[in-house]
Formats: sequence, structure tokens, C-alpha cells
Amino acid sequence: MCQAYGCSNRVSKRSQLGFFSIPDPRKEPQRCRIWLKKIGTDKFNLKTYTYSKNRVVCEEHFEPDCIENALATELGFAKRKQLKPGSIPTIFTFPKNQKRDPAVSGEVKKHREDR
Ligand SMILES: [Zn+2]
Repeated sequence: MCQAYGCSNRVSKRSQLGFFSIPDPRKEPQRCRIWLKKIGTDKFNLKTYTYSKNRVVCEEHFEPDCIENALATELGFAKRKQLKPGSIPTIFTFPKNQKRDPAVSGEVKKHREDR
């Protein structure tokens, strides 16, 4: 399952969605730290995180440009999507950032914009 906070995408054989392991902190500490920070999880940090290929982040959190072989997988030439080296996840829509009640958020906005 995707480790990003609020995301529940799972690895599935039927789905075309790509999943990418969180970088190994012993090999790429810098990148691992950024990933852990970006995905917004408080389950892991750089000190406690140990690499596991099952700890993945799904494709939805990456710019399309980050996928090395997007076209090849789409056309069936490649089985698994590959991430370009050095990529970091950047796209997140955390539930805490969503304001679903227009009446309440409208009120708040009015007050904040009144400078
Ligand atoms: Zn995800």
C-alpha cells in the first residue's frame, strides 16, 4: 500500500498504477529524507526507517515527467514503470488541506482577507 499520508492506493495486478520503493536511507540518505518528509507520514523518519521494497509510494505523487518509461508501459512494451534517477514525489492532496464546508471556509476567508 502507498505510504503517502491519506493515500490508500494498493499494488494490484489489474491496475496500471506504478509503485516505487522509498529510497534506501543507507544508500541515498538525502533523497530518503525528502521522500519521508514529502509523503507526510509520521510512521517513519530517517533514523527509524529501514528500506523495504514493500514500502512504496504510488505514481500519483510524481510528475508525469518522473516516469522513465511511461509510454512503453502504456503500450505494453515494459511491464513495470520505472522512476527516473533522483526523482522525488511532489504531488499530494492531503485531507487536512481540503475545506469541504463552503459556509465555514467562506467565513474564515472573509476575515483573513480583510486587512
Ligand atoms: Zn499514493
